[in-house]
Amino acid sequence: MHFLSAILEQYITDHSQAEPDILQKLTRETHLKVIQPRMITGHFQGRVLSLLSKIIGPKNILEIGTYTGYSAICLAEGLQKDGTLHTIDINEELTGMQRRFFEESGFGDQIIQHTGDAIKIIPDLEVVFDLVFIDAEKISYDQYFEACIKKCRPGSVILSDNVLWSGKVTEPLQPKDKATKILQDYNKKLRDDPRVETVLLPIRDGLTLSRVV
Ligand code: SAH
Ligand code: CA
Repeated sequence: MHFLSAILEQYITDHSQAEPDILQKLTRETHLKVIQPRMITGHFQGRVLSLLSKIIGPKNILEIGTYTGYSAICLAEGLQKDGTLHTIDINEELTGMQRRFFEESGFGDQIIQHTGDAIKIIPDLEVVFDLVFIDAEKISYDQYFEACIKKCRPGSVILSDNVLWSGKVTEPLQPKDKATKILQDYNKKLRDDPRVETVLLPIRDGLTLSRVV
């Protein structure tokens, strides 16, 4: 979904950090071999994730929704030298491709892949996360949030992706459209939840930044 004109989007990308070669390669391979390639994080948002991670300097990162590994590599760019990124995906068919690119990125030793339902896996992780990126099934966002805030400390940052849902969150609700209703409720909840301070950034399909109080 493009909220800005194509010209502005191009200008913004052209005046942001270049996309690393490995991520261009990963994008090409995702389009050739994997279904739903539009789910992949793109050049601009990827650089936003990378810089946010570098500013935060996390020791431990949790990603919910690995897909082919694009956003994981961006987030790993900001890890401390001895830091670790845990990434979870329910689709076991993607783990081989993810691993190949994690090795090629140079972050292979720092990235731990988990295969299965994030809602079941998160409670068993004995880690305090400094940065969390929520990007799996939209209908489960609230459950992911509740599971991961238990693993955060004051000052941890939780990012939630696709919260504008192609703009549908502002349109009249279609009765069968569960994802939009859930995202509308989720966005209100994050705004009103005293456990976090939240801003919804109009980056790509909407990226909410919440800081745990
Ligand atoms: N973060 C990726 C895109 C993620 S797409 C990127 O930016 O490149 C969403 C992913 O969530 C899909 O790969 C899907 O398999 C995964 N997913 C869906 N439901 C899940 C669940 N319950 N637990 C873990 N992963 C899930
Ligand atoms: Ca996304």
